[in-house]
Amino acid sequence: MKLVKDKDTEQLQKKTQQVSDEKAEEAVKTIIEWIGENPEREGLKSTPKRVIKAYREYFRGYTQNPAQFLSKTFTEVEGYDDMVIEKNISIQSHCEHHMAPITGVAHVAYIPSNKVVGLSKLARVVEVFSKRLQTQERLTMQIARTIMDVLQPRGVAVTIDASHQCMTNRGVRKEDTTTVTNYFLGAFKDDLSFQNRYLRYINKE
Ligand SMILES: [Zn+2]
Repeated sequence: MKLVKDKDTEQLQKKTQQVSDEKAEEAVKTIIEWIGENPEREGLKSTPKRVIKAYREYFRGYTQNPAQFLSKTFTEVEGYDDMVIEKNISIQSHCEHHMAPITGVAHVAYIPSNKVVGLSKLARVVEVFSKRLQTQERLTMQIARTIMDVLQPRGVAVTIDASHQCMTNRGVRKEDTTTVTNYFLGAFKDDLSFQNRYLRYINKE
């Protein structure tokens, strides 16, 4: 399975390299002109270059394979068999409909079967999928399924609570609206006592 995922990432990488930096900068320049600005004025001269650099950072998830972060596991857990919950992992993503920022937090939990991962690795998986064009629903599922596939724990739960700038800064302009999505797999889906305990923990301040 690891091989398949690596290949996916390779293909993504190729796709992102098909367009040259110059061409992408030209596109930004066109948008600057389209909004009625002069791309040649002093303050805007280097803007296309800066925008491309920022975009490379916003979307660096296309060049990374999330499964790779879960490959190093520890089996010395001395019988620990309850859920591990990582709360309030910050998220900065972009919606695929408007390319507008999505900001919020993710909570990730899993119930180890016989191996655990370093805690920062769960946050890494969240990070890789966030740095792509997303819908919040898909982002939630991709994180959960990757952890389930690679670690094969007894269950995985992922919750995202995020604000979408395409909704807060434009459109209906509801500044305080956040969207909550949940995805449960394995024991978190089948056993409501696990699910309820998880929900209680993540809602505790
Ligand atoms: Zn949007």
